[in-house]
Amino acid sequence: MAADVIVVGGGPVGLMTAALLDAAEVRVEVYERNAEPSGQSRGATMHPRTLEVLTMLDAGEGMRISDVLMAQGKRVRQAHFATLRATLDYQDLDTPFPFVLMVPQWRTERALAEYLRTRAVPVHYGAEVTDVEQSADEVRIRAGRTRRTARYLVGADGAHSMVRKAAGIDFEGTVPTMVGFVADVQLAEPVPAAQHFWNHEAGHASVVPLTETTTRVFGVEVADTGLTADQVRRRQTEPLTLDELSRALKAICGTDFGMHSPSWLSKANNSSRHAACYRKGRVLLAGDAAHVHLPAGGQGLNVGLQDATNLAWKLAAEVHGWAPERLISGEADYDSERRPVAERLVASTLAQDALMHNFSSSGEALRDMFCGFIERRGELAAELSGWLSGLAVGYPGPEGAHPLVGTKAPDLALSAGTLLRALRPDRFLLLDFTGDASHAGLGSARVEVVNAQRPSGRSDPAWGAVRAALIRPDGHVAYATESGAGLVDAVAEWTAAVHWPVSAREL
Ligand SMILES: Cc1cc2nc3c(=O)[nH]c(=O)nc-3n(C[C@H](O)[C@H](O)[C@H](O)COP(=O)(O)OP(=O)(O)OC[C@H]3O[C@@H](n4cnc5c(N)ncnc54)[C@H](O)[C@@H]3O)c2cc1C
Repeated sequence: MAADVIVVGGGPVGLMTAALLDAAEVRVEVYERNAEPSGQSRGATMHPRTLEVLTMLDAGEGMRISDVLMAQGKRVRQAHFATLRATLDYQDLDTPFPFVLMVPQWRTERALAEYLRTRAVPVHYGAEVTDVEQSADEVRIRAGRTRRTARYLVGADGAHSMVRKAAGIDFEGTVPTMVGFVADVQLAEPVPAAQHFWNHEAGHASVVPLTETTTRVFGVEVADTGLTADQVRRRQTEPLTLDELSRALKAICGTDFGMHSPSWLSKANNSSRHAACYRKGRVLLAGDAAHVHLPAGGQGLNVGLQDATNLAWKLAAEVHGWAPERLISGEADYDSERRPVAERLVASTLAQDALMHNFSSSGEALRDMFCGFIERRGELAAELSGWLSGLAVGYPGPEGAHPLVGTKAPDLALSAGTLLRALRPDRFLLLDFTGDASHAGLGSARVEVVNAQRPSGRSDPAWGAVRAALIRPDGHVAYATESGAGLVDAVAEWTAAVHWPVSAREL
């Protein structure tokens, strides 16, 4: 068989999936329709949790992919929800990345493609996959004259996924009702920081610095809302022009900021769709192939890259033949953990849609009320920051589990380095807080035991009493114990270890 896994789609999610699978020693190949890597800047808002997961990938010379991107992006402390004027402040979040990184999507794709190139992972450009079939033992694809088989296939082929259609997976959702504008331009009057404009007569527009020279402009005119699906289709076929954009900005913001030299002019709608399941047999879906929504709050790319992170280690365990049932079709499988996240993603963007596109006095009042909630810096602001940043996204544990189970572990100090840099997609970390290496006997090829220091300050106080914690390859807590009880069984259950030395069993 040519490969263990074929990834269809060389966008950011496909490339990330391939990179993590390769890091877990899975033979993987990527097939991408475009002749060369994309030059599009679409997903330019990178949230903290995404930078955390990109830290797993070693870019060489002591750098991780997150380091590579940070050198190319612009850090912004604030994130927005529904382009409200009251913003969410990330600076107190418990992460090494307490900011949004503005970095054009093509740079993220280039960093991942470069990672794959240096590891000699085949990424076939100009290779459109036109057929996907599966049997009980394998998947088969056709791309031009090439036919390939593999044990599994990941469809990361975007919103119009042919993989999803070939697998017969439904993609239900809401019909679009508006058409917004989105463009990357240069400004004669640059803005130093993001500015959001909203008025119920003209529409809304956001002007967001992207790089030293480029500014992202997006928004919608009132006349382009409340449309039928047919009107949306028609409107989207008319290309956005610089003149049209300039006129819209003047109406909404009172100026077009001396806009010129567009590098990208496009339109977006607010259709939301979600795949009925993320796995059918040997075919799995990730990223936009599994969920699409209004591009609000910069979520799509981020959630997609985290899909890849959740999927890759489980699929690698399955390929290598040791995955316990819970990872393949049980309570911790990819579908069970990631579908609820995308359901919330769709709900969150629909809520933003309501806040952004209700151009009436009541819409204005709703926005003002939400601004007030956020400005109080209380629970609502914390909840929104936790969700948008990705840091509070967790996977529920079984009843009675320690409260940390399923949460994302903080970047704890280890005896050498920190947790995020120690994570690998092919092994668990067993954090030993006893200080006397009490749990060293539980180490194996799938579990690295490391001495860890309890976090202080911003982390969940529940960490204060923990004696040991088993951390999954994606950085979430699989098991935590304050007494040591149950640890041996938890390690065995998660890693499907069949034999433990007597000394370890007695711990
Ligand atoms: C205007 C706009 C602004 C956005 N802003 C943000 C943002 O700020 N932050 C954010 O997180 N997200 C944002 N997004 C969303 C983000 O761009 C997407 O969520 C992201 O690109 C999804 O990545 P993906 O790899 O799943 O899909 P894609 O990027 O669509 O990649 C899919 C790839 O599959 C290839 N392909 C398709 N069919 C085939 C086939 N049959 N055979 C082989 N290859 C195939 C395509 O050529 C493509 O390269 C924005 C989107 C838009 C439209």
